[in-house]
Amino acid sequence: MTPAYLSLTRSATLRDALAQLERTSAGILLLVTDDGIFERTITDGDLRRLILADNALDKSLTSLPVIHSQVIGADFSRRDALAVMNEAGINHLPVVDPAGRVIEVLDRKDIDEQILLSTPHMGSAERDYVEEAFQTNWIAPLGPNVDAFERELAAIVGSSHAAALSSGTAAIHLGLRLLGVRRGDYVFCSTLTFAASAFPIVYQGAKPVFIDVEATTWNMCPVALKRAFEAAERTGRMPKAVIVVNLYGQSADMDPIMTLCERYGVPILEDAAESLGAKYKGRSSGTFGRLGVFSFNGNKIITTSGGGMLVSDDLSLIEKARFLATQARDPAPHYEHSEVGFNYRMSNILAGVGRGQLKVLEERVAARRKIFETYQRELADNELLEWMPEPSWSFSNRWLTAATLSTDAPLTAAELIQRLAGEMIEARPVWKPMHLQPVFAGCAHFTAGGAPVADRLFSNGICLPSGSNMTGQQIKRVVATLRQLLGKRGA
Ligand SMILES: *Cc1c(COP(=O)(O)O)cnc(C)c1O
Repeated sequence: MTPAYLSLTRSATLRDALAQLERTSAGILLLVTDDGIFERTITDGDLRRLILADNALDKSLTSLPVIHSQVIGADFSRRDALAVMNEAGINHLPVVDPAGRVIEVLDRKDIDEQILLSTPHMGSAERDYVEEAFQTNWIAPLGPNVDAFERELAAIVGSSHAAALSSGTAAIHLGLRLLGVRRGDYVFCSTLTFAASAFPIVYQGAKPVFIDVEATTWNMCPVALKRAFEAAERTGRMPKAVIVVNLYGQSADMDPIMTLCERYGVPILEDAAESLGAKYKGRSSGTFGRLGVFSFNGNKIITTSGGGMLVSDDLSLIEKARFLATQARDPAPHYEHSEVGFNYRMSNILAGVGRGQLKVLEERVAARRKIFETYQRELADNELLEWMPEPSWSFSNRWLTAATLSTDAPLTAAELIQRLAGEMIEARPVWKPMHLQPVFAGCAHFTAGGAPVADRLFSNGICLPSGSNMTGQQIKRVVATLRQLLGKRGA
């Protein structure tokens, strides 16, 4: 094997140095004192300059100028090391112990790799559909790809109808409008979610009421929901709709939630933005509410770069969605409007990307589940991480591998996320609950009675890199870094 780096002293000859440089893969030599203390690096340029200055090959390196090469201490982070390399314009950086002895030499190409949380992962058919759209000049927010994408997605999830829209947020907004949510109304919504679940409530002039989640699913807690309904009944503030979110690709426990909503006659809008491909008791997530919403944003399990879908078994709702999404144009030879509409339709180009992505959905789900299983298996001996549970009735798409960090851990979840960032690994906190958001200050919030579960999941939660295009090597790096940061033995 080629040694990663070689060191020599000033008594070595120029010829030795040239021969050594041939042997090492690092492209540099380390000049050290007789007791092994690092002095400076030697590049082939340094040796060339010595030769040009008329030094014979059997002369020693004594005339090599004294310079202060950059080094870094052993407790470095990747980000620090790269910053030093960038600053000095170098590609190799010796790591030294407190005595100044070299422990290893960092090579930029080995450490200059950012692992992201979740990135787009294209298949092979997307380009063909997009190409076809170009060739036929269907570049509009309607066309054959839009129609086919709606049909194909509806078939995959087992819903009767679907409307392709410009985003998941647009789909939630239209969904609330279709359910008759208006100014002054109340809408119940899971508190542990991305703000896009709740913002459309405000677009409609309605007021969100946030419902806590349960530890077994991280999703809407039926007991908290029941308490909210009972309070609403007492105060005459019945919600117009309930937004149930399926977090990180896992369905909420729909049966008890649906029973309650049916009892009170309130429709469900299912925010399945994160749970395409997931199942609840064998049936597709997103098909339980009167309306279901999917998102194809860039970080979701499949993507159209931006887009959303509204699904329902009620054709009239989906037809009305398509009408409202194209500026509510009444049938007339001129532009006639009797309602306020939106520009919310998906373009035929992006629908082409979506059709290609649908073909690989199953693979993407399998890949994300495998990533979760790898983390779980490789870190099985680590008692500080508790993985997001998957109840027996659930088939999660494991969009993001999520866990909570024990309060016994040597650092907090926020600190762990920061340290991972230093190692160029993007991890994220669990969504900050909506009832804790400044923008929703003053909104009602219901728990099952005890301490809010969502708050705890937020404080201790962490989402790990989960993209379906992650390499095995990258997962290994995340695992090894976690082990190191959590003070467990090396991988
Ligand atoms: C991504 C997301 C949305 C919004 O979807 P967009 O397509 O980005 O508008 C809504 N709800 C949840 C839970 C999401 O994760």
